[in-house]
Amino acid sequence: MLKTAQQLITQAAQNLGLDQFSIDALLATDAEHQFEIELDSGKKLHAYRVQHNNKLGPYKGGIRFHPDVDLDEARALATLMSLKTAAMGLPLGGGKGGVSVNPSEMTDQELEEISRKYVRGIHEHIGPDKDVPAPDVNTNGTIIDWMVDEYEKITGDTSKASFTGKTIKNGGSLGREAATGRGGVIALSELLKYDGLAAESLTFAIQGFGNVGSFFAVIAEQYPNWKLLATSDSASTVYSPSGLNANDLFDFKEGRGRFSDYKAEGAKHLSADEIIGLDVDVLVLAALGDAITEDNMRDVKAKYIVEMANGPVDKAAIDYFTERKVSILPGIIANAGGVIVSYLEWVQNKKNEHWTEEEVNQQLTEYMIEAVKNLVETSKEPGVINLPEAAFIIAIRRLTK
Ligand code: NAD
Repeated sequence: MLKTAQQLITQAAQNLGLDQFSIDALLATDAEHQFEIELDSGKKLHAYRVQHNNKLGPYKGGIRFHPDVDLDEARALATLMSLKTAAMGLPLGGGKGGVSVNPSEMTDQELEEISRKYVRGIHEHIGPDKDVPAPDVNTNGTIIDWMVDEYEKITGDTSKASFTGKTIKNGGSLGREAATGRGGVIALSELLKYDGLAAESLTFAIQGFGNVGSFFAVIAEQYPNWKLLATSDSASTVYSPSGLNANDLFDFKEGRGRFSDYKAEGAKHLSADEIIGLDVDVLVLAALGDAITEDNMRDVKAKYIVEMANGPVDKAAIDYFTERKVSILPGIIANAGGVIVSYLEWVQNKKNEHWTEEEVNQQLTEYMIEAVKNLVETSKEPGVINLPEAAFIIAIRRLTK
């Protein structure tokens, strides 16, 4: 993922005529914090926070709890965050962090201990005007609330603007939970308008049905001409040629079900990987990075790929799809809904205001419409070969102004 992010930055920067010194400066991270969390049980965990670039504002980016978290992953995700906040025109920079841990093997008490000890390890380097973390994979409002509480205890800051993605009762924003999925649906619908496909019937599949994938599915139901044929979790794909009911899938996942046990009329079960090769118009990638690489890119039949995860399509696959005229809606725009509403949460905390969900969704919609307009216009500039390159060009122009 890091290699792909760096190659995309380099390609776009070269297109803009930047010299190697400026490209190296764009690739470099500002700071990398690594530390060990020792639990009361004696278990030791590796923890990270990478701060990539704060030229446009405080570092911003999630904290992930996952066994694959390491320094390279945090570097890649921090880099993508700086490019994302810049591509969206937000006054924020990019950072990312995490703990290398499998949360399903931890008790709630241990998760709280990890969250609080993470903050103890990093508190000097974060803060409302310095670096504002948020939830990411396997972290949520409850975990962020523990982190805010720990941060308040250590620093005395009571603004709640030290983290975003808090629960509503603790200063979170209405609309934040659904924001990434909602933003992705708006972005796809805007892109289809530019391609003259707004009124066409389309089928789609969603890899990953966590926070992002599930809200994408539910919000996409507002488009009666889009039909969800398949979705997956880490163990299996559920597929129905006559269409799946997003709300039913949502309720099933809320009950912590596994798709291998999901039953609905006409629904079949396939392996988790098979979702990539299904015959659908749009493939939405909402699981993890590097989901499509040289190994499986030839299986893809979709004409549109929506990057809801960070870095789900590697550089070789992006080049392959460009040759075949498959459009990739790049993650630094498609999945920016989360950071937009995080930004709106931070503004509300700073002003001590609470906006309605309609107000938040309205602002999110305006950001997404403007971003896709910029994306399409930039992709038509001479020498720009695809939408990912256009997105990186928009971001780099702002970062090097
Ligand atoms: P999540 O933990 O809620 O959900 C991830 C889902 O992916 C889970 O349902 C898991 O079962 C599934 N999954 C894992 N491996 C899979 C595989 N091989 N095949 C199919 N499914 C698989 O996480 P999330 O918050 O929904 O994030 C998903 C992706 O979106 C991540 O890459 C994250 O970085 C990115 N993202 C999230 C946000 C946000 O606001 N949550 C914002 C921007 C980007």
